[in-house]
Amino acid sequence: MTDVLDHWIDGAPSAGTSSRTGDVFDPARGVVTKQVRLASSADVDAAVAVASKAFTEWSQASIARRQQVMFNFRELLNQRSGELAEILTSEHGKVLSDAAGEIARGQEVVEFACSLPHVLKGAMSEQVSSDVDVYSLKQPLGVVGVITPFNFPAMVPMWFFPIAIATGNTVILKPSEKDPSAANWMAALLAEAGLPAGVFNVVHGDKEAVDAILEHPDIASVSFVGSTPIARYIYETGTRHGKRVQALGGAKNHMLVLPDADLDLVADSAVNAGFGSAGERCMAISVVLATDAIADSLVQKITSRMSTLKIGDGRRSCDMGPLITREHRDKVASYIDTAADDGAAVVVDGRGTDVDGEADGFWLGPTLLDHLPTTSAAYTDEIFGPVLSIVRVSGYAEGVEIINAGPYGNGSAIFTNDGGAARRFQREVDAGMIGINVPIPVPVAYHSFGGWKDSLFGDAKAYGPHGVDFFTREKAVTARWLDPSHGGLNLGFPQHD
Ligand code: NAD
Repeated sequence: MTDVLDHWIDGAPSAGTSSRTGDVFDPARGVVTKQVRLASSADVDAAVAVASKAFTEWSQASIARRQQVMFNFRELLNQRSGELAEILTSEHGKVLSDAAGEIARGQEVVEFACSLPHVLKGAMSEQVSSDVDVYSLKQPLGVVGVITPFNFPAMVPMWFFPIAIATGNTVILKPSEKDPSAANWMAALLAEAGLPAGVFNVVHGDKEAVDAILEHPDIASVSFVGSTPIARYIYETGTRHGKRVQALGGAKNHMLVLPDADLDLVADSAVNAGFGSAGERCMAISVVLATDAIADSLVQKITSRMSTLKIGDGRRSCDMGPLITREHRDKVASYIDTAADDGAAVVVDGRGTDVDGEADGFWLGPTLLDHLPTTSAAYTDEIFGPVLSIVRVSGYAEGVEIINAGPYGNGSAIFTNDGGAARRFQREVDAGMIGINVPIPVPVAYHSFGGWKDSLFGDAKAYGPHGVDFFTREKAVTARWLDPSHGGLNLGFPQHD
């Protein structure tokens, strides 16, 4: 009899009414460790009713009180992040040090939310006309929905809920059903930090819960992160139902290496950014565009570094863990055959890698493909696994042309010591995040995170100033305190005097 993970509604675990459940695996052992409840639309309705009620009080809470909860949450997270890291490793599979890194990047947004008194200040113009002042306010939206992917079960929810809560909204989080426990852990920690019941709710589920969120008349906005086809669906369905939507999608990130780059730095970066978290990162580097002059040497340096990587159970001392499910592992592995059939050289084949872990784990070792044709599905598809591809290019111009021809525009990096080339790259590449000698250019929390093209549907990126704007509505107030001189009739359009 396995445990069943409940929803978290109104400050406590809740079984809801649906009898449907899903399996949660330990990917390093390949066994089911618990069940997670899969909500019905009635369960979503119940959570929204609770969140709507809580909004009445929370939206009126002082900024100081909201800020204090965020400070408390931050302190508790600092003390107890080890517990959360263990949960992440047990359900996602990423190694413990990587799980700790994920939490730290999420915590940055919590810290940004602690600065909300400053960020929420509106603008004021005094005496715009005689005795007239104009000022702007930022007010919360209401109940906001957040739907998140499996690959960052703590960080991606933290991209959204700290800012949503600190700006006075109440939240329904629908985390990935593949690794759902982190959401409940954070919900309990928020309660311990003093957040009133009903402000933060977790509804577990699949498409049924997602559709109920998208269509619910009392949900004001949806923040989504996941694959591009689902992101497009979320954006189209949510906006059709009158919601504000930000939907971050998939990616295929390139690293362009010019002949003057430091190849040891490049090789380290390519291995770290290609195989960290088993390549299951939306900002992973999946394609290295190697200029012909240095390509052979770079392939050799990457290959020798790959031979030192230790693959295994993330609770042991390993560099890389398993993939999230057996199906996903098999799908990623199938791209190695596809690439070979299409003419690529399989320089390192991860299907034969030794593993420090249980035989039934969802293992696939780091794989390196060279001479990958850009017509191959192994190039065009988002693989989302530990497969790094080398595409050889004649120089800067061909590299940028290839990057800009793709449908995605999340992150793109250039490695060079030529400042002029780097500056051209940052201007000419159609991507939302650019790295210059930085392979994974995830912006800090006081900037905003998001891609272009099929990597983001909607106008607002995640967190930072975009996050504050997304979770608030601006109101402009024009005020005059009357005295007798302001009387008299005038039906003309108001002008300033
Ligand atoms: P996914 O699209 O399968 O799932 C994301 C969320 O959508 C989950 O909560 C899931 O339950 C829900 N969902 C799945 N199928 C659905 C359907 N048919 N209808 C409605 N909802 C559905 O993504 P994933 O596999 O969990 O995560 C990996 C993907 O997320 C990759 O494509 C990755 O690039 C992307 N991602 C993007 C970013 C970014 O910032 N752009 C960050 C992290 C992950």
